[in-house]
Amino acid sequence: MKREGLILILSAPSGAGKTSLCRELFKTFPDMKESISFTTRSPRPGEVEGEAYYFVTNEMFDRMVAEDAFAEWAEVHGNKYGTALRTLEDARKNGIDLVLDIDCQGALRLKEQLDGGVYVFIMPPSMVELRRRLEHRSSDTQEVIELRIARAADEIREARWYDYIIFNDDFDVACRELAAIVIAHRRKTFRMLEKVGKMFDI
Ligand code: 5GP
Repeated sequence: MKREGLILILSAPSGAGKTSLCRELFKTFPDMKESISFTTRSPRPGEVEGEAYYFVTNEMFDRMVAEDAFAEWAEVHGNKYGTALRTLEDARKNGIDLVLDIDCQGALRLKEQLDGGVYVFIMPPSMVELRRRLEHRSSDTQEVIELRIARAADEIREARWYDYIIFNDDFDVACRELAAIVIAHRRKTFRMLEKVGKMFDI
């Protein structure tokens, strides 16, 4: 019996520290894979095709939507982002544990359709701290920062239907909490039976 891969869905408002948490997660669990999404946004400096994203035109994206190629997709900050159905299917059947960094709309669509995903919401310590991080970190205009804060408030209201919520006020604690969730789901009996079965192999 092949072990079923874990699908870990992470969402967070921008400024909550999800990128750093993800980086740490892949250090702790090097065998976990990042789901590469399709997007219509342009690559940022340093972003490589097929690493951060598959960068596609609007037409290409719409064609994929029409062909039901996406498990979920959503429009975020004026660009479209989607997770290919194929990415999830391949990971699941090959027993690969996959991490999806997707927004709340996409996560909700997945939750409605996909059995067995694990949904984790990363919270900033507070709205005051979120504002401080957004103002310090980027060259964004005040208008963009206000938009991000309003959007963050909307996203935080969505946290209630996630399976887990992690407050990222102490980074090391948050990393340990995320790792604990992964370990618990990796040790679910149905994911261990393949290994148990091998105990009887000679
Ligand atoms: P960025 O453009 O900064 O890389 O990502 C912007 C937002 O899009 C982030 O909140 C990220 O989680 C979300 N995102 C990235 N890929 C996907 C995807 O495949 N589906 C959905 N729904 N959101 C995504």
